[in-house]
Amino acid sequence: MTEKEETIFGKILCGDVPCEKVWQDDRCIAFRDIAPVAPRHILVIPRKYIPTVNDLTEADESLVGHLIWVAAQIARREGFADDGYRLVMNCNKHGGQAVYHLHLHILGGRQMEWPPG
Ligand code: AMP
Repeated sequence: MTEKEETIFGKILCGDVPCEKVWQDDRCIAFRDIAPVAPRHILVIPRKYIPTVNDLTEADESLVGHLIWVAAQIARREGFADDGYRLVMNCNKHGGQAVYHLHLHILGGRQMEWPPG
């Protein structure tokens, strides 16, 4: 693992910071957001350290597809797949990114609005 990564998610991946894990496999983990903005708010993060969407390479294509597939499995498992949900990846300042380790938000359990704030 490349993590001596300083982000909070790097520390979660190393086991230095606890989380409420809902999924783990060889490529990613998913855990409940500590400050949920929806009744269901889960983060899916790759084990590989990638700071932002801008840092993705072509070699990461299948990894990103895997993160989305995992999100769908979690939504189904937790029972909100049919009602629907929103997947979000924030990038850099204008995207509102706070943690610079790539992550996919799964937001569910309420009606989402459009446009987002
Ligand atoms: P973003 O603004 O897209 O970078 O989202 C970062 C998310 O990480 C926010 O929704 C935070 O609430 C969440 N977060 C930060 N620290 C933790 C933590 N220790 N455990 C779970 N979620 C966290």
